[in-house]
Formats: sequence, structure tokens, C-alpha cells
Amino acid sequence: MPFANSLRMGYGVNMTTSQLFDIPLTRTKVICTIGPSCWEKDQMAELADNGMNIARLNFSHGERKQHQESIDKIHSINEGRLLKVAIMQDTKGAEIRTGDVDEKVKVEVGDDVVFSPTPLPKEKRPVIIVSYDGFAKDALETDVILIDNGEIYLEILSVEKNGSVVAKAQQSGAIGSRRHISLPGADIDLPSITEKDWEDIRFGAEQNIDYIALSFVRTGAEVESVRKLLKKLKSTSKLISKIETKKSVDNIQEIIEASDAIMVARGDLGSDLPFEQLPVVQDEIVCRCKDAGKPVIIATQMLESMMEHPMPTRAEVTDTAHAVSTGTDATMLSGETAAGIHPVLALKAMKRIHKATEAHLARLEIVYDIRFSSRDEEEMDSAVKLAEEQEVDVIVLLSDTGRTAHHIAKFRPPVPLICFVNDPVVQTELTLVYGCYPIMIDFDESDEVTMDNGVELALKYGLIQKSQRVLLLRDRANKPEVVNL
Ligand code: PEP
Repeated sequence: MPFANSLRMGYGVNMTTSQLFDIPLTRTKVICTIGPSCWEKDQMAELADNGMNIARLNFSHGERKQHQESIDKIHSINEGRLLKVAIMQDTKGAEIRTGDVDEKVKVEVGDDVVFSPTPLPKEKRPVIIVSYDGFAKDALETDVILIDNGEIYLEILSVEKNGSVVAKAQQSGAIGSRRHISLPGADIDLPSITEKDWEDIRFGAEQNIDYIALSFVRTGAEVESVRKLLKKLKSTSKLISKIETKKSVDNIQEIIEASDAIMVARGDLGSDLPFEQLPVVQDEIVCRCKDAGKPVIIATQMLESMMEHPMPTRAEVTDTAHAVSTGTDATMLSGETAAGIHPVLALKAMKRIHKATEAHLARLEIVYDIRFSSRDEEEMDSAVKLAEEQEVDVIVLLSDTGRTAHHIAKFRPPVPLICFVNDPVVQTELTLVYGCYPIMIDFDESDEVTMDNGVELALKYGLIQKSQRVLLLRDRANKPEVVNL
């Protein structure tokens, strides 16, 4: 049974008591990328019904008008929904791409291929036009060129005075228009935030999109420069930094500090680092984000084979389970939901993996202790420990600002956290946070009354159930109370 159906209000669904139970409130959230496979409103609604927490709009593709339509559809789906779907804008960033071609350029293993920012009509060898004038200069910092994150791999032979680069193909293939090119390990001399990005960010900020994910961020100062614009535009959008270059890994701590959340963007990151380093770097970033109390997302190729197949590979299941067991806040589906033939099946598969792994988490040896850095965090660490000792089924929190929810989530509670809020900005912000299910309610003068009303609402919609043991917490009086409902 699709779980969010039971949480819809006023969206053409008659709730019956039987619909209200068996809700898998997994602590790990799911982000789904919107694309041709789920552009229609009923397709997006189906994803929402099956547990999509955040819809990602990829500004590397499509026109702003089309993204606007997606935003409108999600807002309309959210109307009357108890748990909202948040929206993420993902910027294009400073990518290097191949130029437009009428016919794909064919290369065979062993061919010498010429990469040039300008056409070379007299050149007899295959020529790939690159979208970046400084390509040759940056190519001096590496030995290889990757097309489409390694689909085709070429070893650099020479960098020529005319600004071209000659490289030997290690695979055969055909290279079409606007394919992604990377120079692993090289510090690309393009500004991370391009003119197009600034325009897109302005569009996102003016719409107050819940999250703006910044591609190819390299320093904390770049994040600060975007924050300045958000402030000027009075936007409450939260900033996610995508870690996808070696340089951003080197500067990870200052980037975490400057950002509201982090995405481990493994597609580009896996091209820029030796691929065997990727799991190590991923885990390190998750640990650092948990220490900082900032949400972290693991992205790309999580269930890639489901673009075509109805079931994930065993390795994909294990990869996703690994991300869950390290306590990531969210995992992301990219092409699987945007362009694959099984978008809903991919989401369902991801939810199944989250559920099974989370059930198993308590039995895993804890190898990492999260540090607290304030008295408030220490209190919430104790509250989470109490929830464990008392074997509660759910934590319920009344929160003005969402700060306490962040503190609780930092210590990765073993059960969901239902959070009553009265600010829609806080509600969408908490949608990404580990285990947190934020619900808007009217706040009464008396916290007791608000809590009672909230619990009643959560009971009515099946988020909590009559027989459950609950830890009750309030922002203003952090004295936890365990009750049996
Ligand atoms: C990635 O590189 O992993 C990523 C999420 O970014 P994009 O899909 O925009 O390339």
C-alpha cells in the first residue's frame, strides 16, 4: 500500500481506518529527480504517494519554463497533504561538455583523438570540440580524459601550442553532442558558479525553492557568495553544496560550515578521484556532516540498473544499504526516476532497502561516536539514549525553529521523529533531516494543548498508533516524558 496516500487530505482520497496503518516512516529520506519519466502531475503524485520526500529539478537540463511547471505541479500535489514534498533546484555548474555535432564522432581503441575548443578543419584524426578555452592549460595537471564519467577513457599524449590536446582512446565508442568531459584531479580554472547558474539561483531564490544545490562548489567562500544573494532577495532557500571535485574534498570542512547541507555527488566525484577512494571519501563526509549536525545526501547510480530493469543488482542493494547504515540523511535517485522505465519501482526498491537496513541497524556494531558541541546537543543525545533504553516506538517533538529536531537527528534516533511545527519554512527544511517527519499545526498558548492536538492529529492519520510507546519533547522545556498511548 502506498503510504503517503493515507496522509493526504483533500486530494481525492477517502481515508479509511485500514489505510492508516503499516506506514513505513523510514528514517532515511528519498530524493527523486524529476524528468521525462515522471513529468506528468499524476506520475509525480504517484512518487509522492510512494515516499518521495524531495523532488529534484536538474537545471543542467530543460528550460526554466518547464521547471516552473514542475514546481507548480508539486505545489498543487502538496495542497492538503500532511507530509509535504520539498523541492530542490540543482544548478548546472561549471561543466566541460562536448560541442554540438550532427553525427556522433566514432573512436576506436588506440585512436589518437584531438580535443580542441575551436574547429580544426584540416585535422585528419577524430576531433572533439570542447566547451572550454582553458582546456589545454588544465589538461597539463592530469594524464587522462574521461567522457561521460568514464564511459570512454583516453590517455593524454600531448598538449599542443594551438590549444588542443591529443589523447589515445582506451575504449571504442561514439561521442555525441554535449557529453560530459572530465580531467580527473585537475583544478579546473572555470568559475564554479557560471552566469547561467547565477540567473537560475536568482530564479530559485525568488520562488523560495526549499533547497538550492550548488554544483562544483570548491570553497566555503563560494557558498557564502550565494548566501549573500539569498539574503538580498529575502529568500529562505537552504543551500546544499555538491561535493564533486578533489578540490571540494580538500576544502570539505569549510564547505560544510558554510552550507546548510551536503550532497556527495558521486558521478562527478568518482571521475575526479581514483574510483577506489570514493567509498572512503563518502564515509568521511558522512561522519563530518553528522559531527556538524548538517544533513548529508548520497547521490548517483544508487539503483542505476533500474533505468532498464525492474530489479536492482545485488551490488546496488548493498551500496544503498551501506549509505543507510552509515546514517546518511537521504539517498537520491537520478536517472532512475527522471529517465528510466521504472521510476516508481525504483523508488519502491529504495524504500524497501531503507526499511530492511534500518531494522537491522540496531544489531550492527557502533563504530562511530557522534560528538556533541553544545549543552542543547548533549541534552538531545541523552534524550535519544532514553528513547533507546525505554524502547519507545516514536519520538514526538513540539518545535518552533526546528533546532531541537536537528539536535535529535544528529544522534540518529532508532525511531522516527514526528515534529509539530507552525512555520512552513521549518517544515520543508526538516523534510531532508534524518528520521524527521514535520507536520504543520496551529500552536496554542499552552504547549500541553498543542502537544495533545498534534498527537491526536498524528493518531488520526496513522503516523502513530494507539498502542505505541512515545517519547514526548518540547523545544522550550527539554524534559523528555515517556508515555504509553
Ligand atoms: C553527480 O555528479 O553525482 C551529481 C549528482 O550531479 P549531476 O547529476 O548534476 O551531474
